[in-house]
Amino acid sequence: MSKYAGYMGKVLMLDLTTQKTSDYPWSDEYRELYIGGKMMAARILYDNLTGNEAPYSEENLVVISTGPLTGTGAPSSNRFNISAISPQTGIVASSNCGGNFGYYLKKAGYDALIMKGKCAEHTWIEFENEKITFHNADDIWGLCVGPAQEKLQEHLDAARGCRVKCGIISIGPAGENLVKFASVISGERASGRAGMGAVLGWKNLKAVVATGNHEISIFDREKAREYNRKWVEYLRKHPLAGNQLPRLGSAGLVSAMQMRGLLATKNYTFGQFDGFEKVSGEHLAENFNIVNKGCLACPMRCARTVAVDGKEVKGPELETLGLMGGGLLNDDLAKILKWNNVLDELGMDTISCASTIAWAMEANEKGIWNNGLKFGDTDDLCQLLEDIAFRRGIGNELAEGSRILSIKYGGGEFAMQSKGLEMAAYEPRRAVGQGLGYAVANRGACHLNGGYLVILEGLGLYTDTQTPNAKADMTMIFQNLLEMISATGQCLFTSYAVFPTFLVSNPNGSVTKFVNWVIPYIGWAVRLLNKCPEIICFNLPVLHHPKGMKYNIGMNMTMGKFLRCGERGYNLERAVDVRFGISSKDDTLPKKMTHVPQDPNNPKTVVPLEIMKKRYYQARGWSKDGKPTMRTLKKLKIER
Ligand code: SF4
Repeated sequence: MSKYAGYMGKVLMLDLTTQKTSDYPWSDEYRELYIGGKMMAARILYDNLTGNEAPYSEENLVVISTGPLTGTGAPSSNRFNISAISPQTGIVASSNCGGNFGYYLKKAGYDALIMKGKCAEHTWIEFENEKITFHNADDIWGLCVGPAQEKLQEHLDAARGCRVKCGIISIGPAGENLVKFASVISGERASGRAGMGAVLGWKNLKAVVATGNHEISIFDREKAREYNRKWVEYLRKHPLAGNQLPRLGSAGLVSAMQMRGLLATKNYTFGQFDGFEKVSGEHLAENFNIVNKGCLACPMRCARTVAVDGKEVKGPELETLGLMGGGLLNDDLAKILKWNNVLDELGMDTISCASTIAWAMEANEKGIWNNGLKFGDTDDLCQLLEDIAFRRGIGNELAEGSRILSIKYGGGEFAMQSKGLEMAAYEPRRAVGQGLGYAVANRGACHLNGGYLVILEGLGLYTDTQTPNAKADMTMIFQNLLEMISATGQCLFTSYAVFPTFLVSNPNGSVTKFVNWVIPYIGWAVRLLNKCPEIICFNLPVLHHPKGMKYNIGMNMTMGKFLRCGERGYNLERAVDVRFGISSKDDTLPKKMTHVPQDPNNPKTVVPLEIMKKRYYQARGWSKDGKPTMRTLKKLKIER
């Protein structure tokens, strides 16, 4: 057990081949150093993988982990993480998901599951408190996600004679057919990125169900309740977290991105899309949204519910709207709603799938791969999505993702990926800090893992988008912050609230203008902070997480300690990646982003990647070839 509340005190190692289980040692010292979620998973992978494990192998570990805040009542904290070596990138993937599975995994008594080996037959596994049951999954293998999850619920209800409250994760046909960007779905939420569904598919694991009646302890129930209430209130009053997100969802960013030239259009050829209004959050809210939904215990409720073929289903996020809208030159929102639902049902990542199709359209246009796909001609896209999931015809090729296709056909300069993972819908030539983030992010071109600097460069604040100044240091501090928020089990959208209301709600005010102007000149101060975060030995009112940890789980945390912890997690994942061959040669962007100006009349509208990369490695204490040095690993207590 743990001296800290919030933890269940049990990490389970499960051998899928032998069906044997054992307790995985996880001490309070590790809880303090690695907290939970993706950081916990990174330590487990660091301790167990040598760098020789193939993604599709019995040795590849799947770590499903929760955070200590999960289930405590802290707002938006019921998330869980899946980490493994990705078939899409060949390095560590950590894929985060909302819904309710994380909560029920803890109710079943586990902080994390580690799965190795491979099931001998199609299998789903049920965790009910200490009881673990392997079930044959032949009757749900081949089913789409919704019907599979419904059938699992029926099995459970029938076995107990009542409605069973549980969390379910499952893969769809894409995972079964080893589509490189297959996702894992929990209810309506997706652990979408980097092919975790394919890893489960290879291991013959269709689904995992968790249920139980363990109590999730709270350190100081009274103070935690009061603090969580204030935290929720703060989030609700915040212009981004409490207004834009609930009102429009992440889709609300489409219009802002259009204004700032950030909306990836025609496979990132342009930053603006003439038909943007028709795929905007406002259009979605006015004409299609039925009701807002949210993950368990989330006051922001960013999910949309829309009607597709007479059924109420989850609406699309910003990335899907951007990449399946302007990205493919499609302005028909009804089509996107349908594709979004089809992708979820088949169990595929919308970002990688859309970006791979956009690459194929450009490859066809340039005559390097005659595949019949054309920008703006999307009537048959539903069929194509199915073909990808079932690996039929050209779908079989598209199922490999844009990096592998560009190696085969050429066209790497417009394959919008880094380390094999396709970029989100934010066009980095108008937000060069985000460009750096895409290039250096541990799991490949992820906007969040990359630090999400676009929030400073046009979506919350409006600092100079083209300057490389301060971007490396800013990227590092934001990456560390997001790393830690994720490790606690919280949604990264809670980080919106670290931008004070008076700055965000008053973009033309003199204070906001001054802050925007000054940011490029304060790189040195941010670097100092990154070097010695402990100098912030107090808590800032805009960052509720450290105090939330104190009251909910009893772990003493200051803002500085919080950032240092995040830094540890970030370096740890990088250190695992290094074992799998990652170095500066992999921290790249496609040439379209670094050599072709978005505005032909303004040569500055490219990502000055090499300048920022060099500064970033220095800030991180990495070697020139982008590897954490032993000194850095020791300083962070990763190595002794
Ligand atoms: S903000 Fe959205 S994604 Fe995050 S926890 Fe809430 S509903 Fe889920």
